Amino acid sequence: MLINTDAFVLKSQKYRESDSLLILYSRQYGKVSAVAKGSRKPKSKMLAGVQPFAHAEYVLYKGKSMYNVNQVEVKHSFYALREDYERLAYASYAVELVLSEASEGQGNASVFSLLGNTLTLMCCEGTILTSLIRAFELKLMAHAGYQPNLFSCTSCGQDVQSEPLYFSHSQGGIICHKCNCEIGDSAPVSLNLMKLAQIYLFSDLRSAAKMTVPASLNKQLQRLMEGYIRHHFGYFVSKSLQLVED
Ligand SMILES: [Zn+2]
Repeated sequence: MLINTDAFVLKSQKYRESDSLLILYSRQYGKVSAVAKGSRKPKSKMLAGVQPFAHAEYVLYKGKSMYNVNQVEVKHSFYALREDYERLAYASYAVELVLSEASEGQGNASVFSLLGNTLTLMCCEGTILTSLIRAFELKLMAHAGYQPNLFSCTSCGQDVQSEPLYFSHSQGGIICHKCNCEIGDSAPVSLNLMKLAQIYLFSDLRSAAKMTVPASLNKQLQRLMEGYIRHHFGYFVSKSLQLVED
């Protein structure tokens, strides 16, 4: 059976002598493993389509246990991401997160567009990578079904506009002072931090990617999101992110 799909390369590794083993993120089918035979030969027509982050139209043939790549038509190579250390680290992290969220056989059109827009903005001059990545994290969690509640107490529903404020990973959002005593895993957060998270979550990605934010506030949000992502996706430590943000 042949399938045609629009996909990104999330992972690419050498396989056998001159093949590549790919993990693709397909708009229609989610995570797909595929072998691209002969793709590492210098003159292979598939070479550009097996590079990390590549966005292409793939024709896949279902073999006995895995898909084989029959044909590739590259739409965007995102070459700029592979030649700059910082961009490479952030793009690798974005792809790792999508890989943790993705399931086989089922695509998520919102996550697919988010990934494409994020990789595109990462290549643009003027993008503030730390702002872009925080917006990406929040939007990804929302598209994956884990949108944090950032406006009212997640436990009692009371509108919260003043500190002290808390955030609970298990409850999925803000906790008020009164409810904090009953929730075991909440930690104090500032109102400013919650306002920043609201902006990243609800503004369009292009505007978020241009926001200048104090480094300490961004760091606080990074820590919060790290815990939140780990709570929902299970054990997750990004080596790529540690390289640029720690
Ligand atoms: Zn409450």
